[in-house]
Amino acid sequence: VLERENITDPVLGIHNRRYLERRLATEVARASRYGMTLSVLLIDIDHFKRINDTYGHPVGDVVLRGLAQLIVNTVRTTDIVARYGGEEIMVITPSTPVKTAAQLAERLRKAVEEAPLAIPADLHRDLDKMRITVSIGVACFGRQAVDMKELIQNADKAMYQAKREGRNRVVVGCAPDA
Ligand code: GH3
Ligand code: MG
Ligand code: MG
Repeated sequence: VLERENITDPVLGIHNRRYLERRLATEVARASRYGMTLSVLLIDIDHFKRINDTYGHPVGDVVLRGLAQLIVNTVRTTDIVARYGGEEIMVITPSTPVKTAAQLAERLRKAVEEAPLAIPADLHRDLDKMRITVSIGVACFGRQAVDMKELIQNADKAMYQAKREGRNRVVVGCAPDA
């Protein structure tokens, strides 16, 4: 129980940063040793500050949790979903080529856009559902990212490019054959 608390984010109900870093290190080592593919997705809510400012932080928390659960329900059971930062969630997809990871990212983006998240009535009277969008950066282990740090950096860069290009989109930060 203690171990589980140490690796779980209480608000989002998914793995925390501590677990993410440990697990990503393991997956990077595995990919580099056995020459396997490995991709990561970095997901950031678009204009999340507005939601906090308009409806309050508790509503923001519920939205964040709803997004986390939607992601968990959309990915494969072998994928790892963890909180990367404030409202940023990372998905690690082991043994997955970039093409498949890019398809997953697009499927996630669309699922978020199309599924309004439920807001409990006791939190906000006039709001039972909230629509959000996300920007997603995809990075892959390989020539362009030879360690965990570069992998995260590339995912972050791709995500910020998605923001710059107008949000609610996926940017893949590595070559299609990686
Ligand atoms: P952008 O589209 O550029 O991402 O705009 P943004 O408003 O989402 O900007 P940014 O990602 O920089 O801001 C994230 C905000 O998320 C800032 C912070 O107040 C809020 N946030 C971070 N963690 C939490 C949390 O646990 N709960 C809530 N409610 N808000 C959080
Ligand atoms: Mg954001
Ligand atoms: Mg952010």
